[in-house]
This record gives sequence, C-alpha cells and structure tokens, in this order.
Amino acid sequence: MTRPLSSRTQNIAASLTVTIDTLAKQMIAEGKDVVSLGAGEPDFPTPEPIREAACKAINEGKTRYTAPVGILDLRKAVCEKLELENGLHYAPEQIIMTSGAKHAVFNALAAIINPGDEVIVPAPYWVTYPELVKWLGGTPVIVQGSREQDFKITAEQLKNACTDKTKAILINNPCNPTGAVYSREELEALTKVIVEKDLYCISDEVYEYFVYDREFVSTASFDGMAERTIIVNGFSKSYCMTGWRIGYDAAPAAIAKIIGKIQGQAVHHPSNVAQYAAIGALKMGRESVAPMREAFRKRRDYMIERTSAVLTTPAKSPDGAFYLFAPVSDFYGKSTPEGKVIEDSIGLCQYLLEKEGLAIVPGAAFGDDTCVRFSYAADDATLTKACDRFERALKGLRCST
Ligand code: GLU
Repeated sequence: MTRPLSSRTQNIAASLTVTIDTLAKQMIAEGKDVVSLGAGEPDFPTPEPIREAACKAINEGKTRYTAPVGILDLRKAVCEKLELENGLHYAPEQIIMTSGAKHAVFNALAAIINPGDEVIVPAPYWVTYPELVKWLGGTPVIVQGSREQDFKITAEQLKNACTDKTKAILINNPCNPTGAVYSREELEALTKVIVEKDLYCISDEVYEYFVYDREFVSTASFDGMAERTIIVNGFSKSYCMTGWRIGYDAAPAAIAKIIGKIQGQAVHHPSNVAQYAAIGALKMGRESVAPMREAFRKRRDYMIERTSAVLTTPAKSPDGAFYLFAPVSDFYGKSTPEGKVIEDSIGLCQYLLEKEGLAIVPGAAFGDDTCVRFSYAADDATLTKACDRFERALKGLRCST
C-alpha cells in the first residue's frame, strides 16, 4: 500500500511512560535483571472487596452491555463521592464512566476542541496531554512552571498565555510528574483567570488521594468553575486497579451528553465487570487508601534521602502523587565509562537502563529535559535496588575532556 496513513496520527509521539514500562516488562520476561520505576503503577494488589465485587458480578451474569455512560448505581456512587469528599453537586447524568482516566482526558478534549483551538498545558505535564490535544486538531500551548516556583504556574503566566484562540486549560493536580499540589489560594487565583477568559478547564484529579500534609481542593469547587470544568478521575492509582481500566468524567450536563455520544460511537462503554469492581472500590472509600498513602510517604522520604546523597542539586520533596522529579542536568556533558557523552535526560535514562538495568522516565517526555522521573509506587526492596543502581551509575560518570 502506498496511500498515506492519518497524518494527524503520524504527528503525535508514542507515550514514553508506556513505552518504557512495556520495554522493562519485556526485558524482565526475557530474564534480564531490570528494576523498573518507569510507570506509575502501585505495587499493592487490588483490594479483596473489589476483587470480590467483580467476581460476584461475573457470577451474577453482569457480563452484557451497559449504557454507554455506565451503570446507574456506579454513577450515583460517584456523585456521592464528589458530594461527600469534594463538596461538589453532580447528578448521575453528568457522570460518564470511562476506560481509565486517560480515556476520560481524551473524551473531555474530544468534546470541546475544534481545529486550531489552543489548549494551555502547564509544564511539566503528563506525557499524554499535548499529544492528545494535537491528535484532536488543537494546539497545545505549554506554560512552564519552573523548579523555583515548585513546578506550578501562576495566574499571571496563565493570563499572559491566553490568546483569542485559547479554549481550555488542562490542569493536573496533584501533578504527574512533579508531585506539585496547588494550594487553595493558588487555585483561586488561577480559576479567576479561567472564568475571566471564559475557558473550559479539564481538571485531572487522579492523584487526589495522594497528598502529603496538604489540603486537596478540586478546581471545580471555585466560583464559576463547575459549569466550565470537566473533572477527570479514576480508580487505577487510588485502588490499585491499573489493569481494570476504569475512570470517569464529571462534566456540565451539556458536555456530558456529548461525551456520552462520543463514547457510544467509539467504545460503547467500559467493561461491565470493571464497573462493578469500581462500585466495590467506592464502598471501601477514601479512608481505606490511607495506609497506602502512608507507605508512599515513607518511600518518598527514602527516595529523597538516597537521591540527595548523589545529586548535586537535590530533588524537591513532592507534596503529592508518587513520583520524584529529580534534577540531573548537572551530569550532562559527562562521559559514561564506555566514553559516550550524556547529552540530555533521554541519554541519561538510556545509560541507566543499559548499564544498570534501571528503567526510569526522561524528563523530556514531560516537557522538562533537566530532570528524570522515578515512580516510588514500588516496594522497599525495589526502591533500594533502584537507588543503589542510580548512585553507582552517576558515580561512574566522568568529566569529558
Ligand atoms: N499514568 C502512569 C504514568 O504516568 C501510567 C502510564 C501512563 O499511562 O502514562 O506512569
């Protein structure tokens, strides 16, 4: 065949988090000694009540089609969660169950973007955001949150980035990869600009339960925001359900209707069984996640301690999520024992994988080439091994002549 394939698709990059995770898992399956802190995937098993809810659903024959937007009992349970935990009032027809939070981001963008629309994406960003915006015909406008400002953007920066083509902003709070958490005051200032500029807001809150000693506030809870915000959330991280692929959009009614239409044509609905599992998860509730959050907090502190011993510029202790975004650019320009010069975060990650069998993600994937991302949602022994390897590899670098 010589006829061209979709040029829109050819213009997007493959997800580097997914690529690295797949490669590491393949290398492990081939018997290679690889330690992977690539993908953000909690190491704990899916809790038993959730598995039981799924088994019960299968045995009761809940294996047929559901409505495109998902089963009513689950959407009601999501509304209750939003009311109780976030003080937000949603009706079940505003909730659309999706195949994971990534799918919910896709739905949200698909519902609002027209070709040429600009979508503001604060950086460092999750790898998928700009690519989905491009795929849907929009233009991602990257606004940099520097390390000095804790990787967050200010209301002033947002205002300056707006043009007459700006349609929306995509906020990830807490943030993957930096772990930054916006305070109430910071969000208030940002949302004032969002309302003033009449933008839509896609608020990805998938790390909501992983906030350390800080308050989590939903972007949708500010004045004028509920009617313009699409909340994205999911069960993968909070309830260790990565492979179940279940998440949701919570949107203003008119947008929810469009998302339901998109979903009815594209995938029909997320897995019926996974939806029953999600009901089981919501019954367990936020408090059940507390022990995992405490485990992650200890792991975070361990990672900070270990990496600070080897990095010239220590990483900032993240306030949320389960990633460490570590500055490594001081090592650029140095040579590996084999004489290869490390040019950038991709080069460093390649060296770590080849030399030490350590899989982590280059900051370049997230719009900041000065850093690398570790996921610390892994058990203690794995983290120890990873830190040993990281330290050995960095100590093995030499000044180039
Ligand atoms: N969200 C996780 C990560 O950033 C899983 C992989 C992905 O979907 O990107 O590592």
